[in-house]
Formats: sequence, structure tokens, C-alpha cells
Amino acid sequence: MTVLPVRPAPRPSEPLSSYAVRLADANGIHRARVLPRPRHDIDIPRRELDTVAALAGLDGEAARRLTMNRYPLGIRGHGIQRRHGWRHHFEVVWLCPACTLTTGHTDLLWQTALMPVCLRCRCYLVRAGAAHVVTPAHPRVLELAEILRELAEAAIDEQRARGILYRLRRRCQAKAATLTGEEPELEPALPLIDVAWARMWGAYPPPDPRTVAVLLMLCGRRLTSEKPQRSAHSQRHQTGTFTPADHARLNWFLTRVRHHVTNDGLHPRHVPALLPLPAGDDAPARRPGQWLSLTRAATALHMLITRALGGDPTPQEATAALGVSGIPTSLLIDGIHAGGGLREQDADLLGRAVDALLAGGLIDYQRRRDTLRAVRRLPTSTTRQLPPGTGRVDSEVLALGWIWTRFTHGPMRSSPWPGIPDRDIHAFNTRIDPETRLLLHEAGQLLLADTDLLTIPTTDATWTGVTRRYG
Ligand SMILES: [Zn+2]
Repeated sequence: MTVLPVRPAPRPSEPLSSYAVRLADANGIHRARVLPRPRHDIDIPRRELDTVAALAGLDGEAARRLTMNRYPLGIRGHGIQRRHGWRHHFEVVWLCPACTLTTGHTDLLWQTALMPVCLRCRCYLVRAGAAHVVTPAHPRVLELAEILRELAEAAIDEQRARGILYRLRRRCQAKAATLTGEEPELEPALPLIDVAWARMWGAYPPPDPRTVAVLLMLCGRRLTSEKPQRSAHSQRHQTGTFTPADHARLNWFLTRVRHHVTNDGLHPRHVPALLPLPAGDDAPARRPGQWLSLTRAATALHMLITRALGGDPTPQEATAALGVSGIPTSLLIDGIHAGGGLREQDADLLGRAVDALLAGGLIDYQRRRDTLRAVRRLPTSTTRQLPPGTGRVDSEVLALGWIWTRFTHGPMRSSPWPGIPDRDIHAFNTRIDPETRLLLHEAGQLLLADTDLLTIPTTDATWTGVTRRYG
């Protein structure tokens, strides 16, 4: 078996069936030469997977990532029919009405009820054969879907995530059996549910993406709440209205930010894509989806500083600057955008973050993001020192991800490799020894050639490199 001349890299969570088509098309050969018959991206005969791997020059683990086999039974289902998991019946195909037909984009998780939306197009999926109507998905559904994607990935080797998804499926199934369509917690903005479809949640989830989306919202909402909110006061906040005190707090906070803009030179460029937590609390965010709340807080602060400078920022502009376009919005962001108000706990978080940024000496994170975004390779002298990759991801990419998260203080979602979860970088960090860590830190310093970084030489080797480059 010879390796094909053109070998596109698999996209994050791309199914084998989609990759095989791209590989065949890129080389102008018949699709059956890559994959003999259509498959459901699960339980692929070893021989066929080996063939694709050999043709594409992929290692075994990279090829396995193209199938559902690496997911636990609770997700991929039991027995040859793959029942009683999150997987659909084999005859059910979900696709994106906005991008599947034009670009061929699909996602492994679309073969499960965990993902009733296209996270790229921000719309609900449709069943193959149904009318292709593009309906923007509710922001809370998108938020939940992002968290479910992370949980599915975590469930591959974490019992805790598996447990969460197992219980969520049981809750959904129980809810589906008793649903009337008149549930008081159903927001008008959510899609209409089909009760008959919902009742079909048995060995397989219902085939209708919107009905599944609503069931997930009804049963999984707690996964998205950042903090338990119980008081009547908070209830009012959750409906999206701000109190006069919140409104006054927003104005007060803007005054405070203006002060720092004038006196300390605070600028939106100084905002990292993950808002810093107070010292001691800055442990890597490990709870799935936690990066999202810190990234939304960073978006909010970016907008506030822009406004303090006389601008009129939109959430889209702020998320684009931070490299996290498309993240679901939040009450915090909406409150600032519409000038509605700022809740006490949000003002507290943003205030402490501003203090932390000032205390750390303002760093031009925008420049770091712009600089590192263009870097896709490390010097051979550095890569030689790296431990082997995990198989799923090349160790050079993990090292670049390590540099990205350390120097931009942003989640991997903001990096050139948004599909790599932050926990892969944390795992990489624990696998490397202090010497390699130092080496990578120096590599990052040299890439950025930041004057504020270079004032603290770490070893002679750093200076040799700097002298060579800058004389
Ligand atoms: Zn799409």
C-alpha cells in the first residue's frame, strides 16, 4: 500500500466517511479505493481502517480518532446495533442545513444526540431528507452544546464525565416519556418540540434535532449555570432584566475603567482571552466549560475598556479580537452591550481582574496573539527535546499549544488549534520535565522577542540566541 501524494490533515472530530471522501477527491481517485463501502464511522473493520491510515500516512491513533470507537459505551452504545447510548439509529443522519451541502462538513458527534447544532454555523441541525431550513440556535443551546462536546471528549478517559453524560441521558429519557409540550420552563425562544418524536427516546434518542435540543435544555441546563442562583433577586436577573442598582454599577465601573485608561494606559490590547483569577485561584480551569465563563468575562472587559476609550464595541468585535469568534453570549456581555447593567458578582470579578492585570504590569496580549498565531513550527533543536506525542496530537503542536496558553493566557479555543482541548495541554505539561518547560519558555520568549520578557534572562543559551538575532 503506497501513501497517496496529497494527504489532507483530518479536521477536529471529522468522521472517517467524510475524511475518506476528501482524501480520495484530493488525489483524484475513486472513493471506493479509500473506503470500500459506506460506513457508519463505528465498528470499522480493522483492515479498512489500516488501509485509510496507510493511504493517508496517518498513525493508528490518528486514524482511530476518525471513528466513534474511542468513545465509551455510554456514548457510542452497546452491541452491534449500538443501542442505549447517545448514538442515533443507523438510519438517522443529521446534517447542517448551512454547511454540509456546500462544504461537506460533518462531525462525529452529529451521529449522537449530544450535538443537535452546528457549532460553526450556530444553527440547528436537520435530519437528512427533511427541509433544509437554517434556524439560528438559541444561545443557551449553543452554550450547552459546547459543554457537551467537552464532556464527550473528557468521557474518553474520565469516569466523572462519563457519569454526568449517563445521568443526563437517563434524565432526558425520563423527561421525554412524560413530556406534554406545556412545560412552564420552556422558553418561547426555544424551538417547538414534537411530543411524538420525544416519546421515541428508547434504545435510541429521538431523530429530530430540535426536539433533542429542547430535551437537553430541560434536563442539562444545570451544566451551563455558572453559579447556583436561587434568590428571587437572581431569578429576576436570569430573565434578563437589570435593576437600577445594576445600571448604576455599570456607570460606576466605566468611570473606574476610564480612570485606569487615563492614568495607567489600560487598553483593550491588555486583555487576555481568559480573564485572570485572583492569585491562588488561578489553577487551570478543569471543569468542562469553565474556560467559557472566563472568556466571556474577558470579552466583557474588552468591551468596557473600548467604551471607556470612546468606542462603541459589539460583542462580535471583542470576541474576534480575542480569537474566540462565535462563543455564545451571556447576560454579562449583553448587559454591557445594551447598557442595561452590571451585576454585583460580575463587577467583583471584572474589578479583581483589572487589579490583577495592573499588578502584573500591563502586557500587550493582542500583540502576543497576533505574533504566535502565525507560528506553526518550532526549531528542530527544540522539537528534538520533546517527549513523543500522545498519538492523537503531534508533540510539536502540543508544545506550540503550551506556548500559546502560557504566553497569551488564552484557552486553546482562541489558538490556531481550537479543536485541541485545554486538558491535553495540561496533560502535556505534566509529562514534560522542568528542563523542557524552560526550553519551551525560552522558545516562546524568542518567538515574541518581547522586551518586557527579555529583561529577565533565564540562561546563557537565551542570551546567545538573542544576541545572534538582534546583535
Ligand atoms: Zn454548519
